[in-house]
Amino acid sequence: MSAAAIRSLALAVICLAMLVAPAVLGDFSVTLLNYVAIYTLVALGLVLLTGCGGLTSFGQAAFVGIGAYATAYLSTTLGLSPWLGLVAALVLTSVTALIIGVITLHLGGHYLPLSTIAWGMAIYLLFGNFDFLGRYGGISNIPPVSLFGYRLEHMTQVYYLVWIAVGAALLVASNLLRSRQGRAIRALRGGEVLAECLGINPFKIRLFVFVLAAALAGLAGWLYAHMQKFVSPAPFDLRAGIEYLLMAVLGGSGYVAGAVIGAAAVALSKNWLQDLLPYVTANSGNLEIVVFGALFILLLQHSRGGIVPLVLRYLPQAARAPAVPHAPSADRLPVRTMPTAGQQLLVLKGVSRSFGGLIAVNDVSFSVNAGELLALIGPNGAGKSTTFNLITGVIPPTSGTISYGGRDLTGASPRVALAAGIARTFQHVKLRPAMSVLENVMLGAYSRSSSGFLAGALRLDRAEEAIVRAAALRQIARVGLAEQASTAAGNLALGQQRLVEIARALVADPSMLMLDEPAAGLRSREKAALAELLKAVRDAGTAILLVEHDMDFVMRVANRIVVLDFGKKLAEGAPEAIRKNPAVQEAYLGGVA
Ligand code: ADP
Ligand code: MG
Repeated sequence: MSAAAIRSLALAVICLAMLVAPAVLGDFSVTLLNYVAIYTLVALGLVLLTGCGGLTSFGQAAFVGIGAYATAYLSTTLGLSPWLGLVAALVLTSVTALIIGVITLHLGGHYLPLSTIAWGMAIYLLFGNFDFLGRYGGISNIPPVSLFGYRLEHMTQVYYLVWIAVGAALLVASNLLRSRQGRAIRALRGGEVLAECLGINPFKIRLFVFVLAAALAGLAGWLYAHMQKFVSPAPFDLRAGIEYLLMAVLGGSGYVAGAVIGAAAVALSKNWLQDLLPYVTANSGNLEIVVFGALFILLLQHSRGGIVPLVLRYLPQAARAPAVPHAPSADRLPVRTMPTAGQQLLVLKGVSRSFGGLIAVNDVSFSVNAGELLALIGPNGAGKSTTFNLITGVIPPTSGTISYGGRDLTGASPRVALAAGIARTFQHVKLRPAMSVLENVMLGAYSRSSSGFLAGALRLDRAEEAIVRAAALRQIARVGLAEQASTAAGNLALGQQRLVEIARALVADPSMLMLDEPAAGLRSREKAALAELLKAVRDAGTAILLVEHDMDFVMRVANRIVVLDFGKKLAEGAPEAIRKNPAVQEAYLGGVA
């Protein structure tokens, strides 16, 4: 039986078990499962936000509260249908998240999680201070949800509603994560620079995930209010927010299934603790927190990835890594019209960049022509990588101008540089180690494809995905990693990871490829293959700007060489002339050449 068949079978068994569970289990267990479902929705939002997007939020309980209170107020005081309450819950949580997100998502580092504590507490306090929300007494007599005139009054009936909601949410989330925008979400953790250089707008993606997570929490709040038939502020406080985060982290915060597992683990252990702790102490309410705290610390020390990756480690390889679907596609991504060979492409004029008192790049001018391979060499600290960052807009120059294809790129963002046709690799490899080689390379096609969030979530992007996948597989084969396409990028040797970055840059169809020390960590056979690849890429019309320490490699592939030393241009010329240049030998080659 194939891995896919085993997975489908397991899924069918789980669905069947879920279907008959209420008939077998007692009321108490069904109620517990309903809570697990509601927690799962919130935890799923955090899996996307924290686990995949790298944004920690302690404030999700507040969004659950907004959803719950919105529908409670509408369906009691105003006497409206709970379905209108659902719309209100989703709209209100989304709009609140949008506003909070626009204000706070620019914050870097620890400030963002701290801000979630602030607004999480503020919203909780609001619930308790409004008369129309019943202050700390809350709102009671909330009607149940009716479906086709059938009131979902009993816990067993609610069970199907909440678990259908969970099933749909899990499906949508896993579709999304596999899509173009889902890859962008997962790339966020690689940092701002990586995202920008791939053509991703990190703020937009963050805002989207933040709103989506809030809407999932709002849905959970809606279900909670109509199941519980009563809301009060207490379940939406900061402690609840921390518990939701614990669920996401415990389950395995990068995995959709982790949401269910984490929610179930926390709900069940809370239930057991409530049974057990009274035997130990009269003050069991507080001890529960102590136990969870200890659990959190243990988790962070021993299995930071959570339960799901722990389990996956013990599954056979085939069940872990989905086979790469071989879908050769006749269609191609839009191709760039390459500039005519010999034409001046990149022009740097008097470019300088200082960091405090250090002038890393000092009045450097050179140009790269279409169809040539220019090597930028120089000792460590000469300013090569800084020059790369200046050209690709990662940092702006202190003075001087940079143009590309006649277009001014001085101070432009990496996204603009990419749109102009420049793709790059990084000296310090920037891959998403948990994503497969294929997915990493597919990220390179982000700027050449267009599927949005909705198309991804509903899998309306299949045609484009097949084209992107085929394009990525072609470049992976080109750098010689066809066998490793489904391997997690982090499991490759560093030299191979550099090749993955080259494939990722190539799939963007650049008119100029910038490689920062691509041969570092490669064996001599691999270096020879890389040299052939670079020549082939150049001969196909893509200019290459290469930083490399291996002089044999440089001499083998370069058309021209620019030498930097202490941020200044020391020499420029054909490889042979550079090899013979006494100043270069003195400064850089140490007389060995
Ligand atoms: P190369 O790539 O040629 O080895 P770099 O461009 O990385 O050199 O660095 C040139 C000089 O600029 C070094 O002295 C380095 O320490 C300094 N430098 C690079 N980036 C920064 C930064 N972000 N802040 C401060 N100094 C930097
Ligand atoms: Mg460098």
